[in-house]
Amino acid sequence: MTKTSPDSPLFEKVALVGLGLIGSSICRGMRAEGLAGKVTGYARSEETRKVALEIGLVDDVAATGAEAVKDADLVILCVPVGITGEVMGQIKAGLKPGAILTDVGSVKQSVVDMILPHLPQGVHLVPGHPIAGTEESGPRSGFAELFHGRWCILTPPATTDDAATAKLTEFWTQLGSDVEVMDPEHHDLVLAITSHVPHLIAYNIVGTAADLETVTRSEVVKYSAGGFRDFTRIAASDPTMWRDVFLNNKTAVLEMLGRFSEDLTALQRAIRWDDGDALFDLFTRTREIRRGIIDAGQEIDAPDFGRPHGEEGED
Ligand code: NAP
Repeated sequence: MTKTSPDSPLFEKVALVGLGLIGSSICRGMRAEGLAGKVTGYARSEETRKVALEIGLVDDVAATGAEAVKDADLVILCVPVGITGEVMGQIKAGLKPGAILTDVGSVKQSVVDMILPHLPQGVHLVPGHPIAGTEESGPRSGFAELFHGRWCILTPPATTDDAATAKLTEFWTQLGSDVEVMDPEHHDLVLAITSHVPHLIAYNIVGTAADLETVTRSEVVKYSAGGFRDFTRIAASDPTMWRDVFLNNKTAVLEMLGRFSEDLTALQRAIRWDDGDALFDLFTRTREIRRGIIDAGQEIDAPDFGRPHGEEGED
């Protein structure tokens, strides 16, 4: 791995388009590891650009995307996936030959499809997706450790230079992630079941509870520790981001939802026919999956999701 330092950063100039949770976390991580000589930021609103400067996320901000990416060796799109094509239209004239262009979008095939028609010759496209996040948004929500011990998936098209993929792999490794290279279509199928469908289920269950007329809203809140509140954390995720995820990963999400609905019907049947063995067997298998996630270091082994208890606890 190339050693980086403020004197010999991995990239001379990095431009970030989008300075929300992921963009600001990358900024903080780059600063902590000395990965960029200079960081220029751009976001849609003047307010976000002002905050980014005030809190020292970036060295400077630009008034347009095209200006931000000028002379950048690495350009990272950190915007909702649905506007990738529009943003590319705005920045393409400013991209310099030899630059690496990447993104952090939660969907990969449609992002590649939106970028390729705008990609100037000589710019190396290496799309990416850090599998790390929180339900927070905006420039103040980021933190350098967000990517530590998490996976980052890269989905370079076959035509992309291997050296560009290797350099971006090094970038994410230095931000603390483990990197895997994958086909974009496969990425979308895997993420549909590990992330997208779980979010849809959370949005749905919280929506259903909010609509219940026989149970009052105050009871839903009062007794939420029974499991409901863990869904509310996921269902508090950014509406724009998640609308775009579902509209841009339709095929895989609908495929996984089909399977989910079949399995749910089987569970419904097991309950109706008092098939305790079927329920017990499934719940035993799912417990093992949780164990596997903890063993893989992707979750802490603390009861009740690590919430504080006892005298200082919140319960
Ligand atoms: P976020 O906190 O809502 O930030 C989005 C940023 O994009 C904001 O700075 C926003 O600017 C900017 N933006 C929106 N429209 C723009 C436009 N037309 N031109 C320029 N900038 C624009 O979102 P996020 O959570 O960082 O998500 C960003 C990307 O990361 C998404 O593609 C998402 O799929 C992916 N991702 C998210 C997570 C997660 O858990 N949140 C995890 C992995 C990957 P303003 O502030 O001015 O509106």
